[in-house]
Amino acid sequence: MRVIHGPGGPLPAIPDDLTIPQFMLDIEHPSRPKTDKNRPWMIEEATGREVGEEELRSRTDSLANALKIRWNIGDEDVVCVFSSNHVDYPVIVWAVHRLGAIVSTANPSYTHDELVHQLKTTGTKLIFAHSTGLAVAEAAARTVGLTPERIVLVDSLPSGKASYADIPQLIQQGSKTPKSYTERKLKPGEGKTKIAFLNFSSGTTGLPKAVMIPHYAQIANIIQCTVWAETDTKPWEDRSFRPGRTIYAALPLYHAYGLAFIMHFGFFLGMPLVISQKFVFTDMLKSIERYRITTLPAVPPMAVLFVKHPDVKKYDLSSIKSFMVGAAPVSPELQSALANVFPQATIGQGFGMTETFTIVALQRHDQKVGTLGSAGVLIPGVEARVVRPDGTDCAPDEPGQFVVKMPSLAQGYLNNEQANKETFVDGWLNTGDEVIINDQGELFVIDRIKELLKVRGFQVAPAELEGFLLDHPDVSDVCVVSLLDDFNGDLPLAFVVPTASAKERMGKDPAEAEKIKAAIVKYVADGKIYYKQLTGGVEFIDAIPRNPSGKLLRRFLRDKARSTRQKA
Ligand code: AMP
Repeated sequence: MRVIHGPGGPLPAIPDDLTIPQFMLDIEHPSRPKTDKNRPWMIEEATGREVGEEELRSRTDSLANALKIRWNIGDEDVVCVFSSNHVDYPVIVWAVHRLGAIVSTANPSYTHDELVHQLKTTGTKLIFAHSTGLAVAEAAARTVGLTPERIVLVDSLPSGKASYADIPQLIQQGSKTPKSYTERKLKPGEGKTKIAFLNFSSGTTGLPKAVMIPHYAQIANIIQCTVWAETDTKPWEDRSFRPGRTIYAALPLYHAYGLAFIMHFGFFLGMPLVISQKFVFTDMLKSIERYRITTLPAVPPMAVLFVKHPDVKKYDLSSIKSFMVGAAPVSPELQSALANVFPQATIGQGFGMTETFTIVALQRHDQKVGTLGSAGVLIPGVEARVVRPDGTDCAPDEPGQFVVKMPSLAQGYLNNEQANKETFVDGWLNTGDEVIINDQGELFVIDRIKELLKVRGFQVAPAELEGFLLDHPDVSDVCVVSLLDDFNGDLPLAFVVPTASAKERMGKDPAEAEKIKAAIVKYVADGKIYYKQLTGGVEFIDAIPRNPSGKLLRRFLRDKARSTRQKA
């Protein structure tokens, strides 16, 4: 077996008897760098409001108290956070964890049906909703049988408008009432199985599934990233990941990248977060200047904006020390163009997954601009294999499936034995990505073997769109593949076999085909969140090609679409 190891020897001990808030707030772990206790931890971008460690701790404990008193939230209850970024995001997460309950984070732009899928799959008991998504939260709660009292507002509505509890009220109540809960403590080893998060990922195939992420996985990944940060031998002044650096948190905290890496690893390392509630590119430029941002985790579309947007030149971006792109592929051209925008910074990529919660590879410390096309080097504590379809190991430089083992692996998918059997095998995770790892441990993502599409860094499961499209009256069969695009990553394209009635209408009127295509695009626009739209369009086809066992020949259709539709 050819196993490639991340650098360094064994990792420092990873506590397996602590919850995340205990690890973040209550103990001094030897890996944690000494940081200034009085530094702000969270800074609200719009107002400049700073929240420090003590305030976060007391808000967390007061909210936990209120959650116990008001709803008796306790062990194994699931609480959904349906919110954009907010300074109280960690407060919600840690309060829920103090009670032994589980956090399930959701995209606040989800449609009713998307949120219902998540609430039902996880058996959610309580929803924290941002006011921008309140109407969807109300409707979805009704559908799954949760009363409106089970919705808590993350932000406050203008007085008189809301009949909902909000976080400031709950924190006030919790702080004025004697402590009513016993904090959930873990037995030795229990951290490996005690679930902290149910985040969603479609994995290698099928619909979005709830990924069971234990407390230990998150703590392990923080320690792994911290050891990676310590392997930087540059002078203190030049290091990008160290106490005192400031991160701009525009990436969503409901996604694993934001939650595990930006929020938890950032806090642990003593790097304050400037919290952007809504991504507006020019606000980001202003904030980089205003807050002297040093560290910018990004996704490819943000990187494209930095290269193309005319306003970039109007702002002083010289504070940026590290620009790290992840969540989807970045073209070598884009990476080189970024180096011109940030000549003083390290430009690189990272690779992560919800199922590895989160980081598997990060940019090299010894390069100003990462090797073009490389998604970084494996971080300490990762064991990796690159395997052929028959399970044998690839030779160096031969592409194959990326298979990893690391302490931050998820426990599996909730109630989905089939997917677990296929994905989590003997302690290894089949990522579904096709990669090369060179002899320096650099990872190159060549393609995806799995069905998953990534649009602007967000997951789009073709099976979800196909299931939805099959309910359209003019669709008798369908396969969703992607065209490629620098800004979005993938552009979902539906190959549709029209029903007999649609064929008949098209036979009678040549203009009908375009009308039906437009209606199908609109149907998805009305039913699905913005990044799941059919931006690659609709193509009619006589039959969806399948292999003898009935499996869709996706790659065949994808390659056909890319060769006929994509510019060379
Ligand atoms: P998610 O669980 O949403 O974080 O999605 C994980 C998937 O995103 C991986 O399995 C990859 O397919 C993709 N991905 C993440 N980082 C990169 C990267 N740097 N380059 C290419 N693909 C990436």
